[in-house]
Amino acid sequence: MSHHPENENQYKGLAVNAGVPQPSSVNPNYKKRKRRGKSIHTVSEYVEGIRKGNVALLSKAVTLIESVNPKHYALAQEVIEKCLPYAGNSYRIGISGVPGAGKSTSIDTFGLHVLERGGKLAVLAIDPSSERSKGSILGDKTRMERLSVHPRSFIRPSPSEGSLGGVARKTRETIILCEAAGYDTIFVETVGVGQSETAVHSMVDFFLLIQLAGTGDELQGIKRGIMEMADGIIINKADGDNIQKSELAATQFRNALHLFPPSDSGWTPKVLTYSGFYNLRIKEVWDMVFAYQDFVKANGYFDIRRNEQNMFWMYETINEKLRSHFYNNMEIESLLAEQEKEVKQGKITCFQAANNLLDTYFSQTHHR
Ligand code: GDP
Repeated sequence: MSHHPENENQYKGLAVNAGVPQPSSVNPNYKKRKRRGKSIHTVSEYVEGIRKGNVALLSKAVTLIESVNPKHYALAQEVIEKCLPYAGNSYRIGISGVPGAGKSTSIDTFGLHVLERGGKLAVLAIDPSSERSKGSILGDKTRMERLSVHPRSFIRPSPSEGSLGGVARKTRETIILCEAAGYDTIFVETVGVGQSETAVHSMVDFFLLIQLAGTGDELQGIKRGIMEMADGIIINKADGDNIQKSELAATQFRNALHLFPPSDSGWTPKVLTYSGFYNLRIKEVWDMVFAYQDFVKANGYFDIRRNEQNMFWMYETINEKLRSHFYNNMEIESLLAEQEKEVKQGKITCFQAANNLLDTYFSQTHHR
């Protein structure tokens, strides 16, 4: 035993070893990793990687889509353009519901069910609240425990910066990359608050609305517009004591849907009950979702809806670009504050102010 004062006789009974030298607090084997932003690839590297289903490159390309750096944006646009010929070959499904409705639990269960058929699944999200909270919850991997470790799934949270329109555009572009990477089922998740539903509806083939049975007046809290968008309404947590209440809610929804005019697709929206947590009647839900796909592919509406969505996005892109070009114009920025003041003081009308601003903008762009 090595020498230590406490090992002497008077301390008998205690055996204390001499201290060992402390290891360095820095790991000598640690190698500095390349900074994430620096590892940018060429357009063809991205496209090839994505086409081969390389998840790391796909993720990096999505990060470029989400970047506010104009260089990244330009690069992302090139990648998207090159991926476009390989995109479109998927079934895009929007999934919406209020917080607590069971979206993450359901998507976890639904995802596994869909993947049993083979193929690959991407779960994306549009979260309008993420701008404020600076971090998105929707699409978070930790909320989908089983799906997140599945080798054929790709989960990506909502882009967290920008307006709803901007966030929606990024998600739509991400769909294109995912499709080029071979993901043939795409879920787009959103919270049931209204505007974000419209955004999701504008990019999916089927819109699935998750509802809960509650106090007996389920229909009160749900906006008519959202119900009209739904191709299927599914009532979750139909398990245990809740089964009867869920069936009742389903009947109420069915009755309410009867009052709506027939949809353009010719499809009558279905109402089903299920339990995402206990894995009950999941097959029925997905039989319905796939029955819709067969139905609209046969009657041609599948392509009509996609074409309409393309038109919608063309105009959205134009509008967004024009708007940002206008508002980011230096001269406009200062004139805007001035004109605003004059309108508030009643010196000029709002129309005059708008015209002054637009005239200034157009005269500037004409000279270029
Ligand atoms: P989200 O906010 O819409 O994503 O909802 P979550 O998936 O986080 O679910 C909210 C809560 O409802 C959680 O405590 C879940 O365990 C519970 N839950 C989800 N699905 C079911 C279900 O089918 N049955 C029951 N009884 N509870 C469920």
